[in-house]
Amino acid sequence: MYMSKKDVFFQKMDELGLALTYDDVRLRTSYSESMPDDVSLSTRFSRRVPLKMPLVSAAMDTVTTSKLAIEMANLGGLGIIHRNFSPKEQAKEVATVKLYLNGIVDTPICVRDTDTIESILRRRDEKGYTFHSFPVIDAQGKLVGIITKNDFEFCDDARKTAREVMASNLVLVGSRVGSEDAYAIMKKNKKKVLPVVKNSGEVDGMYTFKDLKRLFSPGITNYNVDERNQLRVGAAIGVGNDALERASLLLEKRVDVLVIDTAHGDSKKVIDTVKQLKGIYGDKVDIVAGNVSEAASTEHLIAAGADGIKVGQGPGSICTTRIIAGIGSPQVSAVYACARIASVHGVPVCADGGVKYSGDIPIAIGAGASSVMLGSMLAGTEEAPGDLVFFEGRQWKQYRGMGSLGAMEANKSSRTRYGQADVERKNDLVPEGVEGLVPYKGSVRNVLVQYLGGLRRGMGYTGTTTIQELQDRADFIRLSPAGSAESHPHDVKITKESPNYNI
Ligand code: IMP
Repeated sequence: MYMSKKDVFFQKMDELGLALTYDDVRLRTSYSESMPDDVSLSTRFSRRVPLKMPLVSAAMDTVTTSKLAIEMANLGGLGIIHRNFSPKEQAKEVATVKLYLNGIVDTPICVRDTDTIESILRRRDEKGYTFHSFPVIDAQGKLVGIITKNDFEFCDDARKTAREVMASNLVLVGSRVGSEDAYAIMKKNKKKVLPVVKNSGEVDGMYTFKDLKRLFSPGITNYNVDERNQLRVGAAIGVGNDALERASLLLEKRVDVLVIDTAHGDSKKVIDTVKQLKGIYGDKVDIVAGNVSEAASTEHLIAAGADGIKVGQGPGSICTTRIIAGIGSPQVSAVYACARIASVHGVPVCADGGVKYSGDIPIAIGAGASSVMLGSMLAGTEEAPGDLVFFEGRQWKQYRGMGSLGAMEANKSSRTRYGQADVERKNDLVPEGVEGLVPYKGSVRNVLVQYLGGLRRGMGYTGTTTIQELQDRADFIRLSPAGSAESHPHDVKITKESPNYNI
């Protein structure tokens, strides 16, 4: 096998019996013509799921619901909806992300001409629809009008029927015309929706102006969208029947990737579930499996059919697995070992957990990761679930491990993740995580500017212009404790907090 500079480094460490993590290493700088703003951050989460930037939000109940997932995909990344939701609730969360930005709405939700405004609003609420535009159809299923946000807002009596308030002077197309043409037609006719209507009069899709405008606005080209211009989103599943039930509901909502989210990926149940899902769905959806931290475990999952591997056993900020169970491997060495073998099969690896500073992101990628999953770094954002907590004079948000007592008590999925599905008594639960607070950080957008800025700078210093180049050319040095202390600010009293550095 070809030996790169980092292969030589990690082999040497291995001979010394040393496994390393973020604080143990730095990347060597190298001659560079790479300008931070010109680098490409495009990469993959799994075989067929691309990313425009390599950050993915953790499938945790204090991190990723649809709100954060929408923002992650808006910014080119990906959110993985956690599985402490019931299967139906989780599918609804996925639908909220997929419906957020529609190039074309494939099967628009129609209302009957006889429905009252009151009943339509109630249904909108129950189903969690984020939109207000509905084609109105008659008893034969033929389009007779459209109701939009204005019609709801100007309606003075909610008992009126859709037919009484709808607009019937419609501009239509007879077949799909492509997002750009649809946008031009809507602009010319000043129409906010453009239904696609078959000869029979039935609705066969609908373009909406708001979504197309977002897509074509200059400067906003970074959305991570699928071939239908819908935001990409992933969802966590377990093993066995739970996984099969969730997979079928999630795929109905067009989820882009299923993540088998367990604490020990190299186990019979996970491997059997990967095989079962690949058997049922083939390449219709990518399956990412984890977590692992050994090369042999990576091979087992890839042999079963996994399209992506999630690496990390014990590095998480809220994780106590290594202390409770005495297992696990420091994250940078684990990522290196798993990515080396996965790359032979063309399977991307996601480095999950343990990232504390933006500088850890280029290190994870240099070690071979194609993407990096963040929990604590995103839990303090506006878009993460949970209210602000005031404590010791500043604002915080709650962040807890999925294997913490609180999460396991509240939810069977959390117990399953840690192999304790059938434990009924609280005192019999063996937690592998803790509950705590993280500083409130403002919007995901502001936070990611800093994280990606750090990555871009790392690429500039290493003379690399793409994620692949960083993976191929990274060279590591090991830090001594004095070297590590020197890397942080020292001998000063910090008087002003920096947006990308806290102690
Ligand atoms: P962080 O980014 O360092 O906060 O780590 C987040 C990662 O920790 C998640 O993506 C999970 O893989 C992992 N994790 C979440 N909850 C627990 C737990 O309770 N125990 C151990 N690991 C956890």
